[in-house]
Amino acid sequence: MSQAPVALGESHLAPASTLPSYLQADNLGPWGNYLQQVDRVIPHLGNLARWAETLKRPKRILIVDVPIHMDDGTIAHFEGYRVQHNVSRGPGKGGVRFHQDVTLSEVMALSAWMSVKNAAVNVPYGGAKGGIRVDPKKLSLGELERMTRRYTSEIGIIIGPNKDIPAPDVNTNEQVMAWMMDTYSMNTGSTSTGVVTGKPVDLGGSLGRREATGRGVFTVGTEAARHIGMAIKGARVAVQGFGNVGGTAARLFGDAGARTVAVQDHTGSIYQEAGVDVAALLAHVAQTGGVAGFAGAEKMENDAFWGVDCDILIPAALEQQITAENAGRIKARMVIEGANGPTTPQADDILADRNVLVVPDVIANAGGVTVSYFEWVQDFSSFFWDEDEINARLVKIMTNAFAGIWQVAQEKKVSLRTATFIVACTRILHTREMRGLYP
Ligand code: NAD
Repeated sequence: MSQAPVALGESHLAPASTLPSYLQADNLGPWGNYLQQVDRVIPHLGNLARWAETLKRPKRILIVDVPIHMDDGTIAHFEGYRVQHNVSRGPGKGGVRFHQDVTLSEVMALSAWMSVKNAAVNVPYGGAKGGIRVDPKKLSLGELERMTRRYTSEIGIIIGPNKDIPAPDVNTNEQVMAWMMDTYSMNTGSTSTGVVTGKPVDLGGSLGRREATGRGVFTVGTEAARHIGMAIKGARVAVQGFGNVGGTAARLFGDAGARTVAVQDHTGSIYQEAGVDVAALLAHVAQTGGVAGFAGAEKMENDAFWGVDCDILIPAALEQQITAENAGRIKARMVIEGANGPTTPQADDILADRNVLVVPDVIANAGGVTVSYFEWVQDFSSFFWDEDEINARLVKIMTNAFAGIWQVAQEKKVSLRTATFIVACTRILHTREMRGLYP
């Protein structure tokens, strides 16, 4: 029997003060930024707004102790997290980060952005994320493996191919995914390739996954440039973060005729007016661990990076990099968010006032999870596609999703971020409403 629609009113939106303190907007970390982004979309959700509180509360938060034997005979304890923000549209999906600054606020925000992102490109997943507060560069390979395996075992009670599927993020890679897949499989007694994505191709990974996020950044960036009449050929690009996402994006923009004039990573900032040789810089980073000391480029102060003369700025490192402090100095016409959460809401407003187009993370970096979805589907069917097919499907999904978001932004006169949230949150909450509440 269908129920009469419930009128939208204050009583259906719990006041923020009823949220536990770690969920509140004055939480200054990334979670607070996410809540502000949600508040901007609620007025556009119509009757679905009565379900909006669901977006402000992660479904499940797991904090785990990860003890391991260190090579020197001592025992070290690390704090690990897995947060499942929302699983209305399907199993949780999102990466695992190993970084010394990982916090619960960060993992909660990253899990929520995964919910939005997965809905924005319409892959059948909810949102999740994990992490360990550790500087993995200080661990030996053996310590890294033991930590990864113990963490996987601890979160094993909530992950699985139909429950929650981790993937790589900052400082995690194909090898880490192989260890996670093996640990989960050992614990469950059968090989379960679909429990993680971003695996090595020989272990059920997908061709094209390693480059998928950067390829998605390039694809939607090119579409956005077309809309504002900016040519990629000859464009000046600045990239923060030269890892999986930033390195690939710089290479693809370079292939299309743009030049990367400035790069910043955790080792420093470099500048080269003629454009860096991206392939040579990738080799330098692989050899030395960072961009500092790259032959032919000038060293640049980290703070000066934000004011560099460029057309396209690609933050592809960490959250909260573009802030009220530096947004006024950005010269780019377009910011394409390869990283998750690189721009604070205050910086978003400053950039909008200055007519700088921000292509938000929740669509710009969705290429990774899109090919992770392909990987998961291939694992289930044990039938693997060739790389051309994967790239073609990726470009089609990203281009169509971006076109829909662009249209919503024009119609409702909102930013691309709010437009993406409108599209995604409508999908999430519509599913929530149809499923109803249990019991
Ligand atoms: P990565 O580990 O391959 O690279 C991270 C890069 O960030 C490195 O170049 C590192 O030097 C740089 N960095 C770290 N700390 C920094 C600092 N304080 N200042 C400047 N640079 C710093 O990680 P990645 O996979 O390329 O992820 C980068 C971003 O993209 C993250 O925000 C991640 O969540 C996001 N992302 C990644 C994927 C993926 O598929 N890997 C998908 C979607 C979003």
